[in-house]
Amino acid sequence: PTQPAYQVVDPATGELVESFPYATDAEVGEILATSRSAYLDWRDRALAERTDLIRRAGARLLDRAHELAETMRLEMGKPAAEGVEEIEYCASIFDYYVDEGRGLLADEELPTRGEGRAIVQHRPIGPLLGVMPWNYPCYQVARFVVPNLVLGNTVIIKHAESVPRTARALEQVMLDAGLPHGAYLNVFATHEQVETIIADPRVQGVSLTGSERAGSVVAAAAGRHLKKCVLELGGSDPFIVLDSADVPAMADLAWQTRIHNNGQACNSNKRMIVMDEIYDEFVAALVAKAEAVEDTAHPPLASRAAAEHLAAQVDDAIAKGARLLAGGVLAQDGSARYTPAVLVGVTEGMRAYHEELFGPVAVVYRVLHDDHAVELANSSAYGLGGAVFSTDPGRARRVAERLEIGMANVNTSSGDGPELPFGGVKRSGFGRELGPGGMSEFVNKRLVYTA
Ligand code: NAP
Repeated sequence: PTQPAYQVVDPATGELVESFPYATDAEVGEILATSRSAYLDWRDRALAERTDLIRRAGARLLDRAHELAETMRLEMGKPAAEGVEEIEYCASIFDYYVDEGRGLLADEELPTRGEGRAIVQHRPIGPLLGVMPWNYPCYQVARFVVPNLVLGNTVIIKHAESVPRTARALEQVMLDAGLPHGAYLNVFATHEQVETIIADPRVQGVSLTGSERAGSVVAAAAGRHLKKCVLELGGSDPFIVLDSADVPAMADLAWQTRIHNNGQACNSNKRMIVMDEIYDEFVAALVAKAEAVEDTAHPPLASRAAAEHLAAQVDDAIAKGARLLAGGVLAQDGSARYTPAVLVGVTEGMRAYHEELFGPVAVVYRVLHDDHAVELANSSAYGLGGAVFSTDPGRARRVAERLEIGMANVNTSSGDGPELPFGGVKRSGFGRELGPGGMSEFVNKRLVYTA
C-alpha cells in the first residue's frame, strides 16, 4: 500500500487529524522476534511478578482515563463520559485476573483408574496476535490481553485503522507500568501482514473481535497455518418483553441499551421483540424517547462510512415497506451524525431483518405468544446475547433457555462483568473471553502423569 492508512479522522467534522504509516515488513519481522524472546523470559517469571506488573498497568490505565477518553472521542466519537466508564471497566478486568489468576491457573489433580497420579497444569503457549475493533478501543484489548499476560503469553496487537492513537497509548501504558519490552507490542499491520503474523511459527494463536467478514478471513488463515483461533463477531441480540407492569420503564431500558455507545456494541439490544398486548404502548414510549433527542445532543457514529452504511440499511427497509417512526436523518454536513431512529414493520427479505444494525436504530417486532418470540429471536444468523423480561421470572427463564445464544439475561440487560464469560454461537463466533473461560483459550492444559 502506498497511502498511510492508520488515520485519526474526527467523526464530528470529517477532518483528518493524523496519519500513521503501515509497518514495514522488516518491522513486522522485528516485532515477531521481540515477542518470542520476551515470551521466553515472561513465561518463566513467577506469577506474582507478572501480576504485580499487570496490577500496575491497570492503575496506570486508570490514571490516564480522562486523556484516553478524549482520544477515543476524537478517534471514534464516543462521548468522554462513556470513555471514562470504559476505562474503569478495563481496570476491573485487570483487577479480576490479578486477584483470581492464581486460582484460575492452579494445577488440577484428576482421579485416575490405575496407580498413577495425573496432574493438569495450565501453561502459556507463546506469542499471540489480537486483531481488535474500534468500538470499545480499550475494553476489547483489555479482555484479550490481560488474562493472556497473566498466564504468561505475550501479545501483539493489530488494532483497527481508525484508532491508532489509542493503540499507541495502550502499548505505552504497559511499558510505563514496567512490563518487559515485547510482552505487549502494537503493530500497524496491513491485512496481508496479519496473515504473515498468523503464519509465523513463533505465533501460537489469534483472537479477533470484529465483523464476520474479517473473522472469516482471519479464521481461514488460522486454519491454513494450524493456529488456535477465537472469534468474537457481530450480534443481533433480541430484547424480548413478554409482559410488563411498567411499559414506559421497560421501553426506557430498551432505549438505553440500544443507544449506549451510539448503538455500536456487538451485544447492544438490536431487536426489540414485544408481546402484542403491550406493543403499542411500548412503541409510543420509544418514539417519545427518540423525538426527545436534540439534533445536536447526540454524538456522531464512528465514521461517515458507518453512518452511510446504517442509513442504507434503514432506507432498504423503508423501500420494502417498513415504517420509520422517528429519527433516521443522516447529517448533510459531512459528519457521521445520524439521529436515533425507531423502525417497525421489518420483515424477512429486508437487510435490517438479516444484518446487524451497528448504530442507534431501535427495531421493534410484534409477537403473539412465547413460541413466536423464540422463533423470531432464533431466526437470526447471529447468536451472541439476549434478554427476556416478564413479571413471571419462571416464564422469562424458560424463554431465555430456548434461545440459541451465548449469553442469556433474565429480567435484566446487564449480565456483564469481568468474572462472567462473554461470547456467542452461530455467526457470532466461537470461544469465550472474560471469566475463567478467558484464561482457558490460549493455554496448554499439560498433563503430567507420574507412575
Ligand atoms: P472489522 O471491520 O471487522 O474490523 C475489526 C478488526 O479486523 C480491525 O482491526 C480490522 O482492521 C481487522 N480486519 C478487517 N478485515 C481484515 C482482514 N481481511 N484481514 C485482517 N484483518 C482484518 O470490524 P469493526 O467494524 O471494527 O467492528 C465492528 C464489528 O465488530 C461489529 O460487527 C461488532 O458486532 C463486532 N464486535 C463484536 C464483539 C464481540 O465480542 N462479539 C465486540 C465488539 C465488536 P482494519 O481496521 O485495518 O480494517
